[in-house]
Amino acid sequence: MTDKLRIALIPGDGIGIDVSAATVAVVDAALAKTGCAPLSYETIQAGAGYFKETGHDIEPGGETRAGELDAIFLGAIGLPAVRHADGTEIAPHLRLRDIYGLYAGVRPVKAYPNAPQRLADPRAAGIDMVILRESTEGLFYSAAVHGRADIRGDDEVRDTMRITRATTEKLHRFGFKLAERRKARGRPGKLTCVDKANVFASMAFFRKIFDEIAPNHPNIETGYSYVDAMALDLIRKPWEFDVMVMENMFGDILSDLAGGLVGGMGMAACAEIGDEVGLFQPAHGSAPDIMGQDKANPLAAILSGALMLDYLSEQTGNATLTDAAEAIENAVSAGFEAKTIRPMEFGGDMGTKAVTNDLLDRLA
Ligand code: ATP
Repeated sequence: MTDKLRIALIPGDGIGIDVSAATVAVVDAALAKTGCAPLSYETIQAGAGYFKETGHDIEPGGETRAGELDAIFLGAIGLPAVRHADGTEIAPHLRLRDIYGLYAGVRPVKAYPNAPQRLADPRAAGIDMVILRESTEGLFYSAAVHGRADIRGDDEVRDTMRITRATTEKLHRFGFKLAERRKARGRPGKLTCVDKANVFASMAFFRKIFDEIAPNHPNIETGYSYVDAMALDLIRKPWEFDVMVMENMFGDILSDLAGGLVGGMGMAACAEIGDEVGLFQPAHGSAPDIMGQDKANPLAAILSGALMLDYLSEQTGNATLTDAAEAIENAVSAGFEAKTIRPMEFGGDMGTKAVTNDLLDRLA
């Protein structure tokens, strides 16, 4: 028996393997620097490569084992050339999301100095927000993988937007708590409910529950935005937002838009959190076009590793784990500031290993 926190490590496919290794190295260095005990990792085989070899998309018992450990870290899964007989891609991670009810999809969006800034307005340098995407229901309740679409021959197809009180209450509570944690670190403490409450009963229900939870968090400023206006404002004045909470499909679209404002997929960190289990992974895929070439930007994965440390801090009450998370974020900021981090993804000269080594030097 060990009292170390145990992480289920699923490197997966393509660049997932490289960025997972980079994340483990940087997380270990941050823990050492802040005086925290190291984590222990238990690798779980899963993904398209594993499927090709064995006919299984995850090793036997892998799903159960992943859920029993303290957190799951996943690199990336799927290769376009490896598919099930029905043509769908290998996606055991989507099952993990379902099995463990990972309703809270956390997508931070932050502008780093000298990283690509897509908006000309200088205030875009101050973008620092989080998109909170509900990840188990909404319009994705009808996603093809679940087989719930109402298909009427070749004439009509109906998909369903499902909003439940149980999940929405948890989601909004999570949003308010997230805004409070960020406020404690100097952010404005504002939560915006993004919906289409003027048109859809499901979305009016989503907003109603937001209004029921809000009085329990009087220290958090609340705002409302219809999703179409939100798309406009994310281009016009993204620096005015802090945390935005929304249903699954809106979050799918707006988190990509927001990620594009501050660089690209190589910066897009992601946490998927449920009542008992937290899964952390970069929002990008396995990027087969650049795999095995040391070209991937590992920062999305590494920043997901920082989210994992924050989560473990919350779960265990050990505040020094938050220090380790902050040490990683600060090292990334400092590297961009000093131009010692120049990812190839942004036209720079540094591949996965070089970016990782810069962070390791800073955390030494
Ligand atoms: P999925 O559907 O599995 O999310 P995808 O088809 O959206 O995957 P990605 O694998 O995310 O695609 O890649 C999309 C594009 O972004 C590719 O051109 C890829 O090279 C690039 N890309 C993705 N992640 C990174 C990264 N970490 N560093 C550099 N480029 C990346």
